[in-house]
Amino acid sequence: MDDLLAEWTTEVRLPYEGIRVVGARWSSRSYEAKEFLSRNQVPYQWIDVDEDEAIGELVKPMSDELTRLPVILFPDGSSLVAPSNLELAEKAGITTKAQKPFYDLVVIGSGPSGLANAVYGASEGLRTIIIERSAPGGQAGSSSRIENYLGFPSGITGADLAHRAVAQAKRFGAEMLTAQEAVSFRRDDPYRYVRLSDGSEICCYAIVFATGMSVKKLEVPGIEELQGLGVYYGAAMTEAATYRDKDICIVGGANSAGQGAMFFSRYARSVTILIRAKTLSPAMSHYLVDRIEATPNITVLAEVEVASVTGNTHLEKVVVRNVETGEETALDMAAMFIFIGSAPHSDMAEGFVPCDDKGFILTGPDLPKINNKTKGWTLDRDPFLFETNVPGVFAVGDVRSGANRRVAAAVGEGSAGIYLVQRYLKTV
Ligand SMILES: Cc1cc2nc3c(=O)[nH]c(=O)nc-3n(C[C@H](O)[C@H](O)[C@H](O)COP(=O)(O)OP(=O)(O)OC[C@H]3O[C@@H](n4cnc5c(N)ncnc54)[C@H](O)[C@@H]3O)c2cc1C
Repeated sequence: MDDLLAEWTTEVRLPYEGIRVVGARWSSRSYEAKEFLSRNQVPYQWIDVDEDEAIGELVKPMSDELTRLPVILFPDGSSLVAPSNLELAEKAGITTKAQKPFYDLVVIGSGPSGLANAVYGASEGLRTIIIERSAPGGQAGSSSRIENYLGFPSGITGADLAHRAVAQAKRFGAEMLTAQEAVSFRRDDPYRYVRLSDGSEICCYAIVFATGMSVKKLEVPGIEELQGLGVYYGAAMTEAATYRDKDICIVGGANSAGQGAMFFSRYARSVTILIRAKTLSPAMSHYLVDRIEATPNITVLAEVEVASVTGNTHLEKVVVRNVETGEETALDMAAMFIFIGSAPHSDMAEGFVPCDDKGFILTGPDLPKINNKTKGWTLDRDPFLFETNVPGVFAVGDVRSGANRRVAAAVGEGSAGIYLVQRYLKTV
């Protein structure tokens, strides 16, 4: 039966009746819209105006002569031109508005820690809502294969893990808002308030920051203009097919870079890993180094840093500088994927909860103390393990100061954090 189905799918051409994204490789907003839809599991058909002249002509009048892309065509005949993620989410049927007037728990962020927190919160009967500004999965969602997560001996893609966790959280009754960013917070005891990017406010008893981190920006000449046009942060998996049989490079030498290299080596003609160090180890796990060495189309260019990037409408050249000699070499590259470390997402919490000198949120025993008492703390008891100095406001996962930045650790903190939230809720 499998063989018959496989043969049938290679031959049959079914008419497509879903969302069509009409854009171009040189339009960074086209890339963002594709990434947003696919990470939210919304099926779409991609049509490149440079490859399909007829559709290019069709959308010219609505896109100011193709200067505003993408044009998104919906099955009901309507369309959106260069929409924001919020507009796209609303039109594609993704929930963007809270359904209830009040929640026991608001979880900010739907990476592994936030999703675990929501699954356990909702399964314990808490009225739970998750706010996500982009798409479920967080950093893990951009991982092409997670091999060290318990119970998946042959690995699982971050997207699959996120998809399963979202289904699980919803099954227990958690609500999920997407394309909404939590921008500020306030307390009016016993209530906590979360303000969203659309101006609305959500009232609750407890807040959990599960906002994680994102990759640091590489600051070299030419890079701003080419972001999304051949230059990507993290493993932009939706772009893999675009670079089939092309030469691409990966910047960075940690595990995420190694996974990215392995993933893109299945599509690209050649993958060059650019690292400052002399060798991949010890920054990369031993198993990944072995795999990279055994993959013929991956090469490692050691002791170099990116000096600049150039390209007309799309990345064409990456200029690398030898860190020892300063000598510069221009490499022809169709794409560059950057994995150079991360910075915490805690700006929106600044002034509401304390952070360490790198911006990670301080919790429990790590909170600053004056005369043996937690600074700013108002209750008789000490703050719980993942609690900030605002009672009922917690932080879990990568955004928490001192966290072990791994999927399993994030899931563990998110799950265990619910027990502390419940202990807090008993006091309000
Ligand atoms: C490419 C890559 C590969 C990796 N591979 C592995 C691996 O194989 N094994 C492993 O153990 N670890 C891996 N990691 C690390 C792992 O993914 C992280 O430790 C984990 O995702 C942390 O989870 P988190 O929930 O704390 O934060 P994140 O995953 O960072 O999720 C945070 C979420 O919060 C959202 N958010 C942030 N601010 C706001 C806001 N103001 N309002 C609303 N939403 C907001 C973000 O959009 C994001 O979705 C990898 C990381 C990367 C980048």
